[in-house]
Amino acid sequence: MKSYQVVKFGEPLELREYENPQPRGEEVLVKITACGVCHSDLHLADGYFDLGDGKKITLADRGTKLPFTPGHEITGTVVAIGENVKDIKIGDSGIVFPWIGCGKCEACLDDNETLCEMPKYLGARLNGGYSDHIIVPHSKYIVSYGDMDPAQAAPYACSGLTAFSALKKIPLTSKDDWIIIIGAGGVGINGILLSPATHKAKILVIDNDPDKRGKAIEAGAYEAFSPDDETEIRNKIGIGASAAIDFVGRPETTDLGLSLVKKGGMVIVVGLYGGSLKLSLPLVPMKSMTLRGSYVGELKELKELVNIIKSGKIKLIPVKKQGLETANQAMSDLRSGKVNGRIVLIPN
Ligand SMILES: [Zn+2]
Ligand SMILES: [Zn+2]
Repeated sequence: MKSYQVVKFGEPLELREYENPQPRGEEVLVKITACGVCHSDLHLADGYFDLGDGKKITLADRGTKLPFTPGHEITGTVVAIGENVKDIKIGDSGIVFPWIGCGKCEACLDDNETLCEMPKYLGARLNGGYSDHIIVPHSKYIVSYGDMDPAQAAPYACSGLTAFSALKKIPLTSKDDWIIIIGAGGVGINGILLSPATHKAKILVIDNDPDKRGKAIEAGAYEAFSPDDETEIRNKIGIGASAAIDFVGRPETTDLGLSLVKKGGMVIVVGLYGGSLKLSLPLVPMKSMTLRGSYVGELKELKELVNIIKSGKIKLIPVKKQGLETANQAMSDLRSGKVNGRIVLIPN
């Protein structure tokens, strides 16, 4: 098994070779056909998240042991199964759901594994998909994608699911409502593409990159503005938007979202760029606003999402396939903001 691994935080990934692991019990060994490159892989490789005001959470403190293999947007084919596996067979293919909990706590038993305090996320706590094989803890985490291209299906495990779960947290909207999407990178574009499957509201996109605004309109956004066009945005949305989803997660972007929602509105922070927010507290009760987070999504949501993408009713996110051996280049391209859509790594 060839894996591109974080050997030291803040350094490029290194190629390491291992014996193929043997699945035991409920485990399944999957031969990887594709793995998307996600922004959070950069934070994982750096080894920390910036909490603002000089504070950080480090992955070492959160229990990530080195070396480890990043990558959580995985598709593959089952090549070996543990002795207790019954409901999947060798040769079956699917998207691997990576947001796996401990399986024992109340959150996990309620199928809210992303709320688990002891998660075992693939590509973060357990080895992930920048490899040609992966051990998946249980067959239930492999979701069939039908006859889709596996590279096209892979980004739905994170980029697609994250956007979908955030959209689903917004109460039902009507066609006169606005939902603001801040940041039209990979996840933001997925949010625009998936919005017709979840909401009637019009989508207004805010991004400071004119190319990304163009891509947002192509993806189906009703309007796209630069953050500097605040007057035009306000003229467009009138009393305010029903909700704003911040796919960037910087103090300025969340602050902008808070200023643009109407009374009773919701701001959902999804992006993990980092920093800390100064909030005018009286406005929280006066506007009855909700500020909440959304982290990736649940297995049941991935199943619902896969049914939507298989139905052919929504446009799919553009993907760019390249060899697994380009993992470091792919990460630096993503870091410099050069990537439109999603890079998907293909093991050879
Ligand atoms: Zn991700
Ligand atoms: Zn749990």
